[in-house]
Amino acid sequence: MTTPTPGRVWAHVGQPFTPGSDPQPAYDVLILGAGRMGSALALALTERAPHLKTLLIEEGGLPNEDGATILAPGIWTTAHLPAAQHDAAHWTLERLRDLLGDDLQARPYLTLHDGPTPGSGPTRDLLATHPHSLALLDPGVLPHATAHEAHTYRPGTLAQTAAQSAIRRGTDLLLNTRATPHPGGRVTLDRLTVTNTHQIVTHETHTLHAPLIVLATGAHAPTQAEHHLGVHTRHARAYRQTPHLATPSTEDAPVLHACGLTLRPQHGAYTLIPTIHHRDPHGYTPQGGHLTGVPTGLRRETLEDLVGLMDALPALATSDLHLGRSLADIPGAWLALLHGHPDAPPTHQRLDDHTHLLLGGPHADTLGLWTADALARQIAGGRGQ
Ligand code: ADP
Repeated sequence: MTTPTPGRVWAHVGQPFTPGSDPQPAYDVLILGAGRMGSALALALTERAPHLKTLLIEEGGLPNEDGATILAPGIWTTAHLPAAQHDAAHWTLERLRDLLGDDLQARPYLTLHDGPTPGSGPTRDLLATHPHSLALLDPGVLPHATAHEAHTYRPGTLAQTAAQSAIRRGTDLLLNTRATPHPGGRVTLDRLTVTNTHQIVTHETHTLHAPLIVLATGAHAPTQAEHHLGVHTRHARAYRQTPHLATPSTEDAPVLHACGLTLRPQHGAYTLIPTIHHRDPHGYTPQGGHLTGVPTGLRRETLEDLVGLMDALPALATSDLHLGRSLADIPGAWLALLHGHPDAPPTHQRLDDHTHLLLGGPHADTLGLWTADALARQIAGGRGQ
């Protein structure tokens, strides 16, 4: 077996990008967006279709500082998946193990209920060895719990690791470049730079053609498809914030899930992953809320949800919950909602003769790698064009 020649990386505009001239190759595949989905596809293509030359294009750095990937919960669990998706989830888990090694951490996942459900046990017993976690909730209000397996990781690390492995196997990477798809397999590129007054400006533009283009630009992808390719999709997007709860957590603390809210132990405290509000219409701008007249950085709908959970989770009613003053104080990201549903699994979809859409969405932590691989298999089988 021959060792592949590593791909090239253009990180900044100081490195000339000269498509079409030697040694710059013509590309078979252009992947727009190097989040976890785009990076995973790039890697899968090096395995499934090593004869194809791929360019991965990313508007920011790697991993990008915002976007769904960096702010995703990073929780692999089958707790909320229908049985038909379990095989794909376990396939993804094996790949996560290969790619992340010790950066993937096994922990319990407890779903808390106010009444008994099949397979549930007493919350107090299940959390007996985790007193820190028990202290977050009122076991009188949530007396029953079901236990699942979970693995936590950083999705940003996954995107980076997958992209780096792809580059070692021959994929090229172009960073700080905004890509716009056009019909007919054409993509225009704006190589971005920052002025000394901190404005992002286009340094130079390029046009590339390729038989295959994949939109992996996360929540932007459906809008790009509509605006630039004239293809309407049924996908939507939502703005999800992940507030911080400063209540201490231990290394082995379980992930807790109650009434739509997930509490993920992270950095010795908790990251809260609220219910997704899928009522963000096109053009919606998230607004901060108000609590007893004081402005908060949590969007109004999320704040209302958390206030409603304060009886069950008294820790939310303490100063441990970071409310911020403006939206920018609480981390948040736009998330693609496949077919407009918060529960739909990641998907890929053919948009026109040259273009595919690859979307992760809320279940990308558990199923994203499998979906990226499914698209790579389709492309390798010659069914991509
Ligand atoms: P996913 O979970 O689907 O990977 P993300 O939002 O994390 O979703 O990833 C999308 C990536 O695409 C982000 O890193 C974002 O910076 C990048 N991106 C968005 N729009 C463009 C664009 N026009 N050109 C290049 N990259 C883009």
